[in-house]
Amino acid sequence: MSSRRCRCAKWVLSVPKRLRWYLEREPKAVSAVLHILLRVIEAHVRQTTPGASPQARIGAVSFVYRFGSLLNRHIHFHCCILDGAFEPLEGGQVRFLHAQALTSQEVAAIAARVRYRVLRWFARSALLDADDVRAMLAWDSGGFSLDAAVRISGHDRAGLERLLRYCARPPFALERLEQLEAQRLIYHLPKLQRNGRTALSLTPLELLDQLAALIPPPCLHRHRYHGLLAPNSPLRTAATAYGREEASNAEQPPPAAASPFLLALPAPPSASKIAVQRTDGRPTRLDWRPTQACLLVLLVRFPLYPPVGRLNFLAACRTYRVTYCFGGTLSRTRIILN
Ligand SMILES: [Zn+2]
Repeated sequence: MSSRRCRCAKWVLSVPKRLRWYLEREPKAVSAVLHILLRVIEAHVRQTTPGASPQARIGAVSFVYRFGSLLNRHIHFHCCILDGAFEPLEGGQVRFLHAQALTSQEVAAIAARVRYRVLRWFARSALLDADDVRAMLAWDSGGFSLDAAVRISGHDRAGLERLLRYCARPPFALERLEQLEAQRLIYHLPKLQRNGRTALSLTPLELLDQLAALIPPPCLHRHRYHGLLAPNSPLRTAATAYGREEASNAEQPPPAAASPFLLALPAPPSASKIAVQRTDGRPTRLDWRPTQACLLVLLVRFPLYPPVGRLNFLAACRTYRVTYCFGGTLSRTRIILN
């Protein structure tokens, strides 16, 4: 009997710069591109999975990245997709069918289909005109790139957790930041750039400025669930329970100790309030700027917390006591979140 543990594949899609401009401004364009990508992959999985019927569905979690490794704006998509299809059974149950290995020709064919359908959507939505779409289709790859090289086996739970943590990571890694002097920060890049660059040199305000541009707009999800893992799927419970029995029977590693960072977090305070004080004694008010700065702190300190919108931000403030002082123009402002 084949394993009930589902393999997972990571798909990464990036689109031409011209389309990224719209993706940053039009949430419906983000949804449309993700929808097209997952529909094309699902159709391919159904065709290439032995025993899959037209009702078989994939399960996926997609992450909308708004940043690149240079702390730059670069909207693209990372999707963790179970490598096969869930076949619905009688009684509200499901069975997972493993997909066949993917060839590079198949990835190229999927990429071409995604490119064609995405450009057609942009033309239909009057964001691009038909001549531009024809010209972009005539280019070699048209600025589109689709990668599906990463696979995690069903039994590699630690690998799956690493993959999901990687996909959910914030735009900024504190360990890469080094302070040379009061007004000079070095941000070490994860890999050598084509131009030989290995680090960014920034002032503290330039760093805040770059990070502020990467904060996602409020009320937009940073990750989404699709197929049988979608919140409205009637088979979601059966799909998420699938294979758990095998997991609990398998030898479990000892539970990891709580991280020192979590242990260091202060206990949630009973009262909840936000105060912004100026150290020069002048009156102040809670305006967007320090709020944005606090969001940056929360992004860096609590990377798994999704600070989207004011409500979540306030909820985070209630949970954690954060007192920070900022340099530059914010140096006279102390933000106290209790
Ligand atoms: Zn990426």
